[in-house]
Parts: sequence; C-alpha cells; structure tokens
Amino acid sequence: MINLQQQTQLTDRFGRVVNYLRVSITDRCDFRCVYCMAENMTFLPRRQILSLEEIQFVCQAFTELGVGKIRITGGEPLVRQGAVGLLQALGRLPLRELVLTSNGSHLAQMAADIKAAGVKRINISLDTLDPAKFKALTRTGDIEQVLAGINAARHAGFERLKINAVILKGRNHDEVCDLLQFAVDRGLDISFIEEMPLGRIDGRSRSENFYPGSQIREDLQRRFKLTALPEAGSGGPSVYYQVDGGHSRVGFISPHSSNFCGSCNRVRLTPEGRLLLCLGNEDAVDLKAVIRAHPGDMHRLKQTIVNAMQFKPEKHEFDIHEQPVILRHMSATGG
Ligand code: SAM
Ligand code: SF4
Repeated sequence: MINLQQQTQLTDRFGRVVNYLRVSITDRCDFRCVYCMAENMTFLPRRQILSLEEIQFVCQAFTELGVGKIRITGGEPLVRQGAVGLLQALGRLPLRELVLTSNGSHLAQMAADIKAAGVKRINISLDTLDPAKFKALTRTGDIEQVLAGINAARHAGFERLKINAVILKGRNHDEVCDLLQFAVDRGLDISFIEEMPLGRIDGRSRSENFYPGSQIREDLQRRFKLTALPEAGSGGPSVYYQVDGGHSRVGFISPHSSNFCGSCNRVRLTPEGRLLLCLGNEDAVDLKAVIRAHPGDMHRLKQTIVNAMQFKPEKHEFDIHEQPVILRHMSATGG
C-alpha cells in the first residue's frame, strides 16, 4: 500500500501524473446520437448512480490529491436535476479549471448560471449544420435549440468555447470545411473526432464510416491555412493547429490514426461511481462501494484512489475493424 501522507500528486506505474478527472454525472441524454447510443437504451436506475453529494465528495478527494482540472460530462450533464447546484459546489473547490461538455440543448436557458458557477470553458457537440442531417445523426435533436445554446454561451463570456464534431464517412465528412468556417466566424475552437468503438450501436458498421483525422486535415487545408501549435503539454489526445486569420484553433482527436496514451493524464468517474482508469480498457475501481460502506471517510477514499493508480493500463486497445471489446457506451463513460 502506498503511504497517503507522502502523496501530493497521483502517479501511475508508468510515471504518468494524473491531474485531470472527467466525471459523467448521468448516463441519460435527450439525444440518441448514432455513434454514441442505440435507439432504445436502458438507463441506470436512480439508486445505482452516485448522488450529487457523493460526486462532490469524490471530487473533493481528487482535488486533495493534486487534481486541478475537472470536466463534468455525461450522457447529457445538463439533463440531471441539480446539475447547476453541483457546478456551484465544485466551483468552490481549489481547482485550476472546472469545465463542461454538453450537447448544447439546454444552454440557452442555463449558460449564464453555469458561467456564474465558475465553469471556465464548455465543449459543445455539433456534427453538422444541416437540420435534416442533425436530426438523422442525433435521432431526437433539434439543431435550432443547439445553435441558440451556442449563442447563449458566447454571450455569457466563457474563456473559450469549443465545438466537438464526430466525423463519419458518408454522413458528415463533406461538411468539415463548413464546420470550421462556422467556428472561425464565431471565434470558437473546434475538434474533429474519429469515432471510437464504445458500446454496441445498431444499424451500421463503424469501420465503413471511418474517416481518419489525417484525411480531415487534408480536406481543411484545401480551404484554410493551418499552422501546427507546439504541444501545450496538456496530456490530452488532441493535436492542435491555429487557423490563419482568426482566433480559432482546430484539434484532431484521432485514437486510431495516432496513439496518445503515452502522455495520458486523466481518469474518469462513471455515473455508477466506478473509477475508470482508461477510456479504452475495462480496468476500474468501485468508489461507490467504498463511500457507501464508509460514509464521510475521506482518508479511506483517498487511499483507494491512490492505490487505483497502479491499475492504470499503458494504452487503449481500440480496433475499429473489430466488434467492440468495450461494451459500455461513451455516455456511461464520461467522454
Ligand atoms: N452529451 C454531451 C455531448 O454530446 O457533448 C457530453 C457527453 S458525450 C458522450 C461527449 C463527447 O463524446 C461528444 O463530443 C460526443 O460527440 C463524443 N462521442 C460519443 N460517442 C462517441 C464515439 N463512439 N466515438 C467518438 N466520440 C464519441
Ligand atoms: Fe447524448 Fe452526447 Fe451521446 Fe449524443 S454524444 S447521445 S448528446 S451523450
């Protein structure tokens, strides 16, 4: 057992420092994006997921172990009742950055309160600018609601806003330039994401729709001048470029065409309270069992987290051409 007294930062057995926690506060969502969920999903019963107080307790433990950045995600985090109250509570923790990922559907009403809670940046998902394609990709979403959400967030004054776009061949790959132009016109950043094989989805083959990040970059460079940015040392999976003639940065999250595991600095908390040590592996430690068996025992929780770092795998095992080995969906993972 590692001695908690000497622990000022979380380090795994490969020497990687873990200073970033992503927290999925619900597996539920008002959308059913084709790459993320099946059309008919069974969601977790309420008693199985962590309460907001339990989430706050776990987040506090992580900050005491040197974690400076927390991202709240889901599912759609803003569909969980009390989400803003949780953000307010987390905003009082000694964090360098509290950030959020959202599909944007509730931002028109909530952006100002989220900013006031102390959230610095939001990533908002938008895969297409075409209303019919948007409906087809999200199954239930309304693009107007999301565009209104993006506008509200722009006016609320966040440090940075970023669009996340998952690109699928034959569905939206022909829109990458228009999506970048949308971001540039509004001073937003944008990340283009390769689809990851998380969870069984229905109706199509993931490998047929695979569109590599390198191809997206080539498509963009026909219309935009992109300058590679030096690695920001964030430990993140994105490679970033500055778009000439604006403030926008464009990122590529390419788990298949380039492996980013060597500098991984993050772990994830699932809605059920499992501490997931890698997005692409099943290794996890059940923190809910610890906090429910020993309520309020911060020392025990921190010791469990410190010990868990020894199980963080070296790298993900994604293969787009195989059936998913990871059966949980991104929504239950904290993407
Ligand atoms: N509901 C919020 C949203 O859509 O932004 C937050 C949760 S969502 C799971 C987080 C991010 O994961 C989104 O940008 C989404 O596009 C992405 N995502 C979901 N399933 C994915 C998959 N199979 N491969 C790659 N990205 C995925
Ligand atoms: Fe919901 Fe986000 Fe998954 Fe789409 S990607 S179904 S918005 S959780």
